[in-house]
Amino acid sequence: MGHPSVNDRIEQSRHGVSLVPEQAVARLKVRSVVFLLVAVCLSMTAIVIWEVWNSRQYHLHDKEVAMSNLAQTLASQAQAAIKQSDTLLFTIVDRLENDGIDQARLSGLERLLRAQRSELGQLHGLFVYDEKGQWIANSNGATVPNANNADRGYFIFHRDHPDRGPHIGPSIKSRSSGEWIMTVSRRINHPDGSFAGVALATIYLSHFLALYNSIDMGSNGVINLIADDASIVVRRPFKEAEIGTSVAKGPLFMQLLPKGDSGTATVPSYIDGIERVVGFRRVEGYPLIIFAALNKEEVLAGWREQALLSASIVSLFLGFLGVFGYRLIRLMRQQNHVQSVLLDAQEKLIEVNRSLELLALEDALTGLSNRRQFDLFILAEMGRARRNQTHLALLMIDVDHFKSFNDLYGHVAGDESLRNISTIISDNIKRPGDLAARYGGEEFTVVLPGTDYVGAFLVAEKIRRAVQQAGITHSKGVEGTVTVSLGVCGYNPASQDKPNDLVSAADKALYVAKASGRNMSVIAN
Ligand code: GH3
Ligand code: MG
Ligand code: MG
Repeated sequence: MGHPSVNDRIEQSRHGVSLVPEQAVARLKVRSVVFLLVAVCLSMTAIVIWEVWNSRQYHLHDKEVAMSNLAQTLASQAQAAIKQSDTLLFTIVDRLENDGIDQARLSGLERLLRAQRSELGQLHGLFVYDEKGQWIANSNGATVPNANNADRGYFIFHRDHPDRGPHIGPSIKSRSSGEWIMTVSRRINHPDGSFAGVALATIYLSHFLALYNSIDMGSNGVINLIADDASIVVRRPFKEAEIGTSVAKGPLFMQLLPKGDSGTATVPSYIDGIERVVGFRRVEGYPLIIFAALNKEEVLAGWREQALLSASIVSLFLGFLGVFGYRLIRLMRQQNHVQSVLLDAQEKLIEVNRSLELLALEDALTGLSNRRQFDLFILAEMGRARRNQTHLALLMIDVDHFKSFNDLYGHVAGDESLRNISTIISDNIKRPGDLAARYGGEEFTVVLPGTDYVGAFLVAEKIRRAVQQAGITHSKGVEGTVTVSLGVCGYNPASQDKPNDLVSAADKALYVAKASGRNMSVIAN
């Protein structure tokens, strides 16, 4: 049972204002803004971190290159300074080995040593020792009596090694002048190849330090000239205690030199633990390494300032964005709240409207359709039947002797009976397209679309029997129970009949049923 046109309209209007999509969209909008703001903040932070990191790497790399270049220059300088002295040694050794060592030749040699020494500013002295370490010639004039250098490292080295190349020994304090010197020495051989002594050139460490100190290395920069055996030959800043210190366990020897003769790195110092940006290079032709290093903290000081500035600017911007975003989201939430309150109110109004509409179309006592809905329905269905050339039938139902029922049992019982009868009517019309209505008082009507008068008569009889079988006691009724009489009328779609014509035809048939004894169905002719 139902009234498609009216109910459908109500249903459609209900779904049309469903709040779910609007609320979902509003929530989505707020979520999108939050997502966007978070994405912007995260991207900016990521970009700044990336920029700052890159800039740090650039700063370090820049100084590594600078240290590498410096190491190259200082290695060339060291090589030049040592080569000059070493060339002299080579000549002296060659002369002694070819001419032999006798007293007459030695005084000539000493003259030569003095002359050579005065030519080279960096040269502290030139010395020749015999196989026992005794001084046999030197460039500094007076021979120290009974001086013996057999205990010096370079002497022991040459005595024990047959190598003919130059040897750079650990830096020492000169026994003749008390100054810090670097030693470059070569072995002298007897004609049979056995050890005959040592030729030694000593170079002022101050020659190197003067240059190293003139280079701006910041407050904690370091320049080291280190021998192959890992002992420090010269170090800037100069500290006596550090000369000769072994750095064999330091990163230069442990990590860097095994990888190559030159390079750059950022490593902690073995001596003072300070992390430095390092460039190093082996001195060509000599067992020496130049090591130049800047304090990493100082290298990064400029970068740190720049990074701090960038971070501050971005933080400020993010702060603004956060405040702006927060206010925007709050505003959106407020707006959404207002919108949802309005939609809520709208939905409630529609709900009320729907109830009112239902009330306007429903009979209050029985819950069946009321007269108004019946009028709308029969008009619509007659139009449809005409257009589709289909059947349509109408039943008019009137309760028999109902006045006396009221008189006997009271109006409350009468109302109860009317409700029972309306339930029986509803239960006996099964098609969804049928409509049962209270026409007025104790009169009901049933519209049966798609049903001819024969079918309608069968429905009428079903209703009549069902009411009788319900057995509602009525002492003055037909058979002692409440009964109904029915007028049945089929609609001819070819006719020009109006709803009223159909109703009055059914009414007439009903009148006949009443006149013929009640509790019966009569088809209109
Ligand atoms: P019949 O139709 O068999 O000729 O006799 P009747 O007594 O039913 O005839 P009538 O149409 O004169 O009486 C209708 C009665 O139905 C009048 C009234 O007391 C009763 N009635 C109408 N509407 C209602 C209602 O809503 N509730 C109750 N309890 N009674 C109603
Ligand atoms: Mg009546
Ligand atoms: Mg009646």
